[in-house]
Amino acid sequence: APQGSSLIKVEKARKTFGGLVAVNDVSFEVTAGQIVGLIGPNGAGKSTTFDLITGMNSLTSGTVSFAGKQLSGRSPRDIAGQGIARTFQHPKILPDMTVLENVALGAHQRGHSGVAKSILRLERGEEASLLAEAATQLERVGLGEFKDRPAGDLALGQIRILEIARALALDPAVLLLDEPAAGLRLGEKKELATLLRKLRSEGMSILLVEHDMSFVMGLVDHLVVLDFGTLIAEGSPADVRKNPAVIAAYLGG
Ligand code: ADP
Ligand code: MG
Repeated sequence: APQGSSLIKVEKARKTFGGLVAVNDVSFEVTAGQIVGLIGPNGAGKSTTFDLITGMNSLTSGTVSFAGKQLSGRSPRDIAGQGIARTFQHPKILPDMTVLENVALGAHQRGHSGVAKSILRLERGEEASLLAEAATQLERVGLGEFKDRPAGDLALGQIRILEIARALALDPAVLLLDEPAAGLRLGEKKELATLLRKLRSEGMSILLVEHDMSFVMGLVDHLVVLDFGTLIAEGSPADVRKNPAVIAAYLGG
């Protein structure tokens, strides 16, 4: 998509769980070539919003579209295949498999769950091309030297970057990252931020969920703030930081 065009459009997205309104008629866009931050206190509805975009949960009402095409009703696998790749708040790695195999498996899964064993059933040619793509993405994110190590040997910061490589192996147009900086040491957060800037400079569009406001401030082009499922502010990081509703939500949370 051309820089600056609308890539993901969320319109009046709503999700209720029984009587709880987890996402309350939220509308925002992810623009091509930008890092958009989706922030808010715990329970604000950030992960649920990701689930609505990626088809892992169904909308109660509202729509999500991608490059002008409606995504509502499509399967997670289909949506991933369209070019939307995500990471999860709680990393999903297979610790006994190598870093390379973890990335290759993700590329094969394409949004599908429970097919961890499927790599064993692949044709040789297909397996070789998945492994080659995985190696390319590991070099891209700076984990090339770790490719033959068991994934369980990596530090948390490296696991989060492995997950990004796995998402990149889907050759996505947009990356959705759910709290990639959570629990990381300061040095790891800086490395992660450097990687995300590099991906943006290569043209990648990113929707970044984050709890920690300081991590997103110097990184994102646009911020969307949720509180109790409702969009309470959006704009540049500088403007959002000064917004009284945002300050109140964070002090209250
Ligand atoms: P965040 O990612 O911003 O911390 P979530 O999207 O995980 O918030 O959750 C938003 C709200 O929806 C919370 O109150 C949470 O408990 C609730 N919620 C999330 N998923 C479910 C579910 N599957 N069933 C019931 N309630 C849920
Ligand atoms: Mg969450």
